This record gives sequence, structure tokens and C-alpha cells, in this order.
Amino acid sequence: MKISSKDVVYSFSAQHKPAAKVGCGIKVDIETYDCFCNQLRSEKDSFDKLDWDRINPATGPIWVEGAQPGDVLKVTSHKIALSDYGTSIAGQDMGILGSMLSGTQTKIIPIREDGADFGNGRIFPLRKMIGVIGVAPKDSSINTGTPGRHGGNMDNTMVGEGANLYFNVETEGALFALGDVHAVMGDGEIGVSGLEIPATVTVSFELIKHANVEFPMLENEASWSVIASEPSVDQAVQSATETMYRFLKPQLDLTDHEIVILMSLVGNLQICQVVDPLKTVRFVVPKS
Ligand code: CA
Ligand code: ZN
Repeated sequence: MKISSKDVVYSFSAQHKPAAKVGCGIKVDIETYDCFCNQLRSEKDSFDKLDWDRINPATGPIWVEGAQPGDVLKVTSHKIALSDYGTSIAGQDMGILGSMLSGTQTKIIPIREDGADFGNGRIFPLRKMIGVIGVAPKDSSINTGTPGRHGGNMDNTMVGEGANLYFNVETEGALFALGDVHAVMGDGEIGVSGLEIPATVTVSFELIKHANVEFPMLENEASWSVIASEPSVDQAVQSATETMYRFLKPQLDLTDHEIVILMSLVGNLQICQVVDPLKTVRFVVPKS
């Protein structure tokens, strides 16, 4: 099954008409525009001419058959197929270092067999990831540039091939959407852009009936993590860490103090992004 990038939304909302209905266990190829809706596909395409109504498109939404409020939706990202080249930008007043720049620059970066070609022999490994991924919230509409408990623009470098994400289903059918694929991005996304690239993402869904996650969770071969977005990094740190504690407690035969010691010794608190309307961090615990 394939869902074309003609079906895009700019918000996560229960009001959107589904682009498709998909059952559990079926692999779906989701075509995505880059986060600029492919408006900057040449170095001559200036950031200043960008149509801001077409930023962060997410393909979908997908109605997952059987999904009911009170369930948890598990999404597995099987494969991320990239287009030939991506776009990155930096500019005045954008991101953490925007005060050090004047004007903007659009940089086109080709994808080679061995990585992303920055020019002058600088080729670095790909770190393919999905920036925007989530479900419709219950009573509100959240634009696709903002992260939250519904997922959204979390810009988490761990959301790559092989990652499983867990979201609370808030509305019938879940209304899942994704977009904003990056060929590579550093943790933090300090300049406001990753290597933004059109892609095709293959996912499948499972439902965990009558379950609950406080924040989106991610599971891969090696680890579990909680992904928390809050108005400040400090608040996100607190939410991610507390949520992981509550996740671990019923599973471990340890005192409360031992859980905190364990988390302090082997848990990794990491930045996802610090440039979106809410800031996102993850608390990662190795399965071992
Ligand atoms: Ca993003
Ligand atoms: Zn992006």
C-alpha cells in the first residue's frame, strides 16, 4: 500500500479526513515532501521567498483500523528511502547561532553511496530519521511544527529505521501522519534545519489495547526511551526522567533508591531538539 505526498496536513487534528484506512500488520509506503514542501530544491531558491503556509507537511492522516481512545499505537519504521539530494539552511536570527549570521543561505547536499556530500571532500555518514511523526490529539489541533504528547515535530535522531514508537490513541482511528525526513541531523538541530529531504518511509502499525504511555516512547534493538517536549529544556528533562522512573518501577525488583541509582548509572539523558516551539529531550535506558 502506498500513500502519496499529495495527501498532506499541516496540523495533527481529529478534524482531518483520513487519506487512507490501514489495518494492523500491513506495510505502508508513505511518500513525504521535505519540511519546506520541496520549495528549496536549488541553492538559488531563497529562504526569504518561502511560502510559510507550506512548512512541515506531514503525509496522511492514516486511519488505523480498530484504534480507539485508550489504546496505544505502536508504529514500526521499517525503511527510509531518500531522494538524491537534500537541502539545509541557516540564517540570521534562526536557531542558536542566528545572531552570528546576516542573511540566509540555502545549501544543497547530494546523497552519495557513502554518505552526505558536503563538498570539498567532506562526506559524512547518513543518520536517516523522521522529524515529524504522531497522532491526532483529543480536542485540539496542533500544528506540525510543534512537538508534544501526541508526537509531532520531535526531531529525534533515534527515530530511524528499526525504531518502534508508541503513542496514546486519542481519537478513533488514531489519525497518524509523518513527514520532515532528515538524511542526517545532529542532536539539538542547532541551526533549525537538518538535511531536509523528500523520502519514502515504510511503516506498519500494531495496537496495544487498553494501555497508556505518558509521553511518546521509543524502542529499538538496544534501548527504551521516553521522549518529552516541554516549554524549556529543564522541564523536558524533568518530565522525561520522571516518566522513565514510573515506567521502570513496576518492572524491576528494586527499591526506589536503587531505581534512581540504576538510572543515574546507565540511563542517558539526551537532547533531541532545542529550536522548535517546545524543546524535546529523551531519556534512554539500555535493554541490557
Ligand atoms: Ca523538524
Ligand atoms: Zn526537518
